[in-house]
Amino acid sequence: MNHMERLWDYQEADVAADNVNKEIARSPKRLRLLKLRDNIKKQQRFLKTLENEVLAMLDRIEIIKEAIGMNEEQLKQLQTKIQTEPAQDSGEAGAYISEVQRIVKDLNSFDQETKKIRQEAADREKKQRDVKRLAVKIKLEFDELRDEYNTEYQTMSGELKRLRAIAAEKAKLVDKEDMERYNAIKKHSTPPMAKLIDDKLCGGCNMSFPSSVLIDIKAGKYVECETCGRMIIL
Ligand SMILES: [Zn+2]
Repeated sequence: MNHMERLWDYQEADVAADNVNKEIARSPKRLRLLKLRDNIKKQQRFLKTLENEVLAMLDRIEIIKEAIGMNEEQLKQLQTKIQTEPAQDSGEAGAYISEVQRIVKDLNSFDQETKKIRQEAADREKKQRDVKRLAVKIKLEFDELRDEYNTEYQTMSGELKRLRAIAAEKAKLVDKEDMERYNAIKKHSTPPMAKLIDDKLCGGCNMSFPSSVLIDIKAGKYVECETCGRMIIL
């Protein structure tokens, strides 16, 4: 084997290891787990929002309670006043009546608002229970799948380790300069080496070489494809 053939031999081992690595990243179980994790986070955020909304409603109900207490006190004072200082004429009587009406109207509207808030709070609490149930279900699927994935991952990473070790052994036979070129090209074109195919085409990008370049390739000179940058091997 010449130095380019040794590099080619290394590339085969390197590609095999990279493929297993890609397979690990693309594992349907892993992708599903990531999706479930995102979904769990989403449900948690939703729960937090619902909780905050319910808290704000409870605060509002407290404020309304105080306002109702104040209005009831005003009404009581007004009733006492009406008894101790009865209206002397229709003008005063009218003023008392409209004062009572105003307070009663306020009390009614506070009552309506309280009912409405309680209903909304109950709706949200029901939603919270639904979300919690859903979150439990998702978490269960997540846990089961994670166990399955861990088993799969152990097998796959064992395989990856084995292939990387093979590649590392082959790398020892590769010239340092070749390896540096290989790694530099790998950053933009992978795999970094390509065979000459049909006696005229780059096996990496399928572009045909000019005849002068073909002569160099066939003479065993080092050639990089002008189009894709790969090292060309016969
Ligand atoms: Zn090419």
